[in-house]
Amino acid sequence: MATRPARAFPAAESPLPAADGLTEAERTRILAKAAVFAPPPAVDEAGRRELIGLSREELATAMAGIGEKPFRAKQLWHWLYHQGERDFSRMTTIARPLQIRLTEAFTVGRPGVALEQTSVDGTRKWLFRWRDGQQVETVYIPDDDRGSVCISTQVGCTLSCTFCHTGTQKLVRNLGAAEIVGQFLAARDSYGEWPTPTGEEGRKLSNIVVMGMGEPLYNYENTAKALTILMDHEGVGLSRRRITLSTSGVVPIMDKCGAELGVNLAVSLHAVTDELRDRIVPLNRKYPLAELLAACRRYPGATNARRITFEYVMLRGVNDSEGEARELVRLLRGLPAKVNLIPFNPWPGSPYETSRPEQVRRFAEIVNAAGYSSPIRRPRGADILAACGQLKTESERERATPGG
Ligand code: SAH
Ligand code: SF4
Repeated sequence: MATRPARAFPAAESPLPAADGLTEAERTRILAKAAVFAPPPAVDEAGRRELIGLSREELATAMAGIGEKPFRAKQLWHWLYHQGERDFSRMTTIARPLQIRLTEAFTVGRPGVALEQTSVDGTRKWLFRWRDGQQVETVYIPDDDRGSVCISTQVGCTLSCTFCHTGTQKLVRNLGAAEIVGQFLAARDSYGEWPTPTGEEGRKLSNIVVMGMGEPLYNYENTAKALTILMDHEGVGLSRRRITLSTSGVVPIMDKCGAELGVNLAVSLHAVTDELRDRIVPLNRKYPLAELLAACRRYPGATNARRITFEYVMLRGVNDSEGEARELVRLLRGLPAKVNLIPFNPWPGSPYETSRPEQVRRFAEIVNAAGYSSPIRRPRGADILAACGQLKTESERERATPGG
């Protein structure tokens, strides 16, 4: 078996920085898990290091490593994230000898496209393949003159929500920052949206929803690093208001996410009692409803202008009664919230049925009448299994994982 190459960025990739407010036990457990599921180093067979996914500081350090001044990092950043350029020889502000040295030491990659499908409704889905052969799915959902890219953060998921297709696939590994950023860049390539349009209006790829495969808060450091890169004003420059991160409720990391990133938060609620949520979102056994809602109340920026989205998958006869709608309203009282009702999207072998449309409407009316906006999400891309909860890849973990 080949020896594993040394990790490229030991310090910067530490999965959790200090002073994060986690208990010691919690911190140790999450760190141990992150190490087991760490992505492979972002280095190719020739030992060339990938530049996508490096923070600005890391890029400057990489330039210093080949004897270049820090301003080179700024120049490169512009080429990578404003121009979307992948070929050093086309970076015209860089002299030829340096272009050659860059080509020898570094790469500017994109995920391999194993499959690209476009739905009758315009939704596009990619199956991306990474250098170690693992795969994830990414979806672009157009909406008039704008649209959202739904990105994945893990290959598979450790959690096993009973209504979710990804949940049937064990966690294979976390995605690295390069792989998370790479999904958005590759989607942009596909629509030719380079150079980055000035301003935020008129972009086809105007928003990001971190709602693909995996639980982003169980791969927080890589996700945070990737989103920070995508929010940088001198590059892609997406505002944090245009990014929504969805979690099934990893309470201690919700606080970190709010303090450090301040992106919009979506919480996968799906049930209004611990008894039911314990069964359908098993993470509830660790962080029950009261703790989850308290974390939502603490979330910075949770104001009427920036409400927290609660996602509620409508499962026929399981969680869709009018009593449950009233209880939902009671639970949310005082929280700046919006409720996204998601009719259950079936997948091969799924154990639930979608709620009847009139039941979804009644549920929505009750929530709406209490003053909460409660849009019913139209399934998008269902013909190509691109709708919420339908993503899954054939990737499997080679060895049995501890406790997995
Ligand atoms: N792991 C994160 C983000 C990915 S899931 C989370 O759970 O929030 C994105 C959303 O799709 C979640 O709200 C999830 O509960 C929902 N979902 C999962 N399976 C679904 C299905 N079959 N039909 C409709 N929504 C589903
Ligand atoms: Fe994982 Fe989210 Fe699916 Fe639950 S709903 S199994 S947390 S991806």
